Parts: sequence; structure tokens; C-alpha cells
Amino acid sequence: MFSQPLQTINQKLFHPVFDEYGLEVYVKREDLIHPQISGNKYRKLKYNLLEAQSQNHHTLLTFGGAYSNHLVATAAAGKIMGFKTIGLVRGEELATKFQQNPTLAYCASQNMQLEFISRESYRFKHTSQMLKKIQNQFGSVYMLPEGGTNALAVKGCEEILTSEDAFFDVICCPVGTGGTLAGLINSSKPHQHVIGFSALKGTDIQEEIRKFASNNRWSIESEDRFGGYAKINANLVTFINQFYDQSTILWDPIYTAKMVFGLIEKIKANQWKQEKKILLIHTGGLQSISGMNQWLYQKGLPSIHQVV
Ligand SMILES: *Cc1c(COP(=O)(O)O)cnc(C)c1O
Repeated sequence: MFSQPLQTINQKLFHPVFDEYGLEVYVKREDLIHPQISGNKYRKLKYNLLEAQSQNHHTLLTFGGAYSNHLVATAAAGKIMGFKTIGLVRGEELATKFQQNPTLAYCASQNMQLEFISRESYRFKHTSQMLKKIQNQFGSVYMLPEGGTNALAVKGCEEILTSEDAFFDVICCPVGTGGTLAGLINSSKPHQHVIGFSALKGTDIQEEIRKFASNNRWSIESEDRFGGYAKINANLVTFINQFYDQSTILWDPIYTAKMVFGLIEKIKANQWKQEKKILLIHTGGLQSISGMNQWLYQKGLPSIHQVV
């Protein structure tokens, strides 16, 4: 794994709104890379795991919440490459019931050692104090930050775009920590604009992106529609299911579905500029659907299609 360069296909996307406005929209199927090490998480782990290997580390340690695609990808890739993996999970209450959580149960099945920490101490996960505590408890480990974003992760994400993608005017990507967007920004062409659709409310994330971005041809859309990170409703579920029925492309509810929903709303509101050729990055993350469906079921809401 990670030794071969990897290119994914661009697939044409159809939607009545795209037709109406004369837009040519494609989706880069990074979700097809691997069922668990999916999309941008493969890109973000690549140079980190190669680095951990060359530093002779045996253990990877990282952080994540109950639906974390990054935890899943780290557990799966770590196992394939022969690393021991440790996941520090947000929320002590999950300790007794993580087997009912599909994301965490999968991590455990890949032999990831799960340590549950309070929301309070999780907030301090990236402080030097926490770092000391981790070193005392776990010894020498290769640490990946929450969401996996660091300079090596950005370098991996610079490999998402290829020379053929110069065809597009604009590139759209969902944003969590912003590492993926930074990679796209850095490898975009001078005539291209990169738009990040945040999975979080607000645009604070811009500061983080600036740390890694090598130009200014980008902007961020805040997630104001559904209430913020991992917040979903029946509207979004219907959108995902209808899109799947019409195109057989499945979007994850936390990141990619909100990007496509946001894009279509922007176009309908006549807030879309001149850009006619649009490339959407499907960053994957489909493993979160089972966990989300449990939540939807408890609320008596319709569930998202699951494709196996
Ligand atoms: C993690 C993730 C993102 C966000 O990536 P960042 O580099 O943290 O911005 C987007 N989409 C999916 C599916 C993800 O799993």
C-alpha cells in the first residue's frame, strides 16, 4: 500500500439544476479508493505512514469521535502496514457501549486499542501537557492529529488533482480540518478557484488553511443550513437517497452530501458566478452511514440507503 501513485476517475454528474444553468459538473471518485481507507483519508495517511515506517515507529496514535472516518482509516491502514494503533476517543460514555457503534466496533476489529477520554480533556488533546501524558502512558508513538491534518497530509492531498483536471474552472471539496482543501489549493492551476464547503458552522477554519495554502484562490462556505458538524435532518436524508436513485452516487451525510446540497442551493439562489466547469471531490466517508442510521432510527426519521 501507498507505493503506487493513485489516480481516481472523474464521473459526469447529472442534475436538473446543472442542466438549467448550463453547468458541466464532474465528481472525482476518491470514495472508490478503499472501503475503509476512503477518499481523502488515504491521501492524508500516505506520507505519514511512510514517515512513521522510516522512523522505525511501531505504533500510531490518533484521536477521533464516534463517527470518525480518520480513526477507521488509521485502524485499517495501520493493520495492513503492520503498525499497532491506538485511538483516543472523544466521550467517556462510549467506553461501555462502543461495540454498538459501527465506527468504533470496526476500529476494534482492526485491533485498534481504544481509550475513551472525557470531552473536557479531549479539548486539550493537542497541548504539550497532553503530549507528555501520552508519552508517559504509551511510550514512543507516531502521533497523527485529529482528522490527520499536518504538512505530510497536505502533501498527500496535493496528489488528488491531475494534469487533466486543468479542464475545470472550479474545484469543490468538503472541509473538516482543512488539510484536504489545502492540498487541492496547492495543486490547483492559476485559472482555477477552490471552494471549501465546511462541515462546521463558521469560517474560523480559514486560519488553519492559510497555514498550509500556497495561494489565495480559494474561499469557504460555512455550514449554516443543518446546524453544524454531523447535524442532519430528514431533508438531507431525502436529498441523499434521491441523488442515489438518480445517479447511483452515494454521498456521506457529514461531509459530501452537505457540499452537494450547498452547491445546488447556491446555484438556485443565483449566487453562482461564471464558472461553468465544476469538479466535485468525493472524499468518501461512507462508513459513517450505519452509525447515522442508528441515530435516525432512534429519532423515527427515514434512513439513508446503504450500499454494500
Ligand atoms: C475527514 C473528511 C473530510 C474533511 O477533510 P479535512 O482534510 O479534515 O478537511 C471530508 N470528507 C470526508 C468524507 C472526510 O472523511
